[in-house]
Amino acid sequence: MNNNVVGVDMGGTKILAAIVDEEGNILGTSKIRTNAKDGSSNVIDRIADCIQMAIHGSNVPRDSIQAIGIGAPGPLDPETGIVIVAPNLGWENVPLKTELEQRIDIPTYVDNDVNVGTLGEHTYGAGQGIQNIVGIFVGTGIGGGIIMNGQLFHGASKTAGEVGHIIVKEGGPRCGCGNRGCLEALASRTAMAKFFKKEIKKGTKSVVAKLTDGDLNSIRSGVLAKAVDAKDKLTKKILNRATKYLGVGIGSIVNFLNPEMIILGGGVVEALEDSFVDNIRKKANKYALPGTLDGVQIVKAQLGDNAGVLGAAALARQRTGSE
Ligand SMILES: [Zn+2]
Repeated sequence: MNNNVVGVDMGGTKILAAIVDEEGNILGTSKIRTNAKDGSSNVIDRIADCIQMAIHGSNVPRDSIQAIGIGAPGPLDPETGIVIVAPNLGWENVPLKTELEQRIDIPTYVDNDVNVGTLGEHTYGAGQGIQNIVGIFVGTGIGGGIIMNGQLFHGASKTAGEVGHIIVKEGGPRCGCGNRGCLEALASRTAMAKFFKKEIKKGTKSVVAKLTDGDLNSIRSGVLAKAVDAKDKLTKKILNRATKYLGVGIGSIVNFLNPEMIILGGGVVEALEDSFVDNIRKKANKYALPGTLDGVQIVKAQLGDNAGVLGAAALARQRTGSE
């Protein structure tokens, strides 16, 4: 039977590979450190090793593998499989697809990790059977993907779906991209950490100071969840602010694109209770034109830790089917 694919989730610290069958069952997985400092050629060797280990561990014959899908940090060109820039890997113009195909001789397809995450939810998660979806992933940054008519939409420069850089507050805080007031600069975990730091420095009491041992530079999503449980006032204020701006952004997305579904995922959304998504929905309702939100579902992502590998498997399957 020639119907398995490999999904690879490639991050700055670790590489995950999974063998996935036609129904989306994971038959075997493997995990390896990225060791990005060793250079791109070395990292691609490690991706190949990780895939071989996953095939071996799943006990499927190698020739049952139809294709490999990889979710990689972007921006990248999904046609050529060249990663244009990936600062956390130190990569510039790395031909990931061809380099991996040379090592492993299985057709390989590459797309941006958030696009892949959105495709995974469409194929195996919250968006099954839904043809028009916007995925929004809130973590250290905010990324997004667009599915139109069941296919990923990339745009002229392959950068479509950059919801994190929609301006939601003109003249607002500076974003990593150089602009001010981007959604990412107001509602990402990094943005929240900055607000905590500023407020705590001013003398505002918060349980977060204790939960992070005073290191407010990187606040993990789990810390936010604990602070919510502890009914921490500052956390509530900061989450309300993030919720508001996510609502502003989503309201605009719904006005502009009117997708059938918006799927919210990423570390922050996953760590918090469903009420976080409910509150975002309420805010979005305030900014969407009358009637535009009526048919739009705003839901939480379902795939959790497997989103990356299942999304990449969905990419492999869809691209194999269309070529
Ligand atoms: Zn920006």
